[in-house]
Amino acid sequence: MNIVIFGPPGAGKGTQSQRLEKELGICQLSTGDMLRKEVASGSELGQILKTILDEGKLVPDETMVKLIEIAMKDPDCEKGVIFDGFPRTRPQAEALDDMLKKNGKRIDHVIVLQVDDGALLGRIQKRAEESGETRSDDNEETLKKRLNVYHEQTAPILPYYEEQGLLRKIDGMADIDKVTDQIFEAIGHKKAA
Ligand code: ADP
Repeated sequence: MNIVIFGPPGAGKGTQSQRLEKELGICQLSTGDMLRKEVASGSELGQILKTILDEGKLVPDETMVKLIEIAMKDPDCEKGVIFDGFPRTRPQAEALDDMLKKNGKRIDHVIVLQVDDGALLGRIQKRAEESGETRSDDNEETLKKRLNVYHEQTAPILPYYEEQGLLRKIDGMADIDKVTDQIFEAIGHKKAA
């Protein structure tokens, strides 16, 4: 099963993706995590990426498509993938369809976590407090930029999936467990008791 999860920064994509990964035995590909790993490695590419991430901008489509294409080849991903943070633009969405089609696969569900913009900054601040480490793009100024990018470049690809009957809208303002339950219901998955 291949699932794409959308939502503004701080919506809870990572948390829910990890739960889906565990329950469904498919692999989570988080582009944010991949990029942060590259930054932490201190490589030349990492240094370029750090500037982009800290500005709240998007990494070029070509780079992202290459990263995802390589990551999808992992044997752990054979049973399916949860795409967390990808696609973020229309060209990325089309590239993903092509990559899956080439392998006789397709997207089964597109989940959108709907959270009010006003709740996001508080959530991100809480995440920083709880994890004890602050992402360098988790500050008020960069969050605003990331949110704008989400509304301007990412949210406009949702109708593309809606037309295909794949969109599952989820109330992301609910408790974490309730959100998980809603997701399983939306994708028709019955949890083992
Ligand atoms: P969030 O969704 O909470 O903003 P992510 O961890 O998914 O955070 O992404 C962090 C940053 O990584 C983004 O602001 C962007 O700079 C970069 N990024 C992640 N995924 C993509 C993508 N698919 N295309 C371009 N840039 C990306």
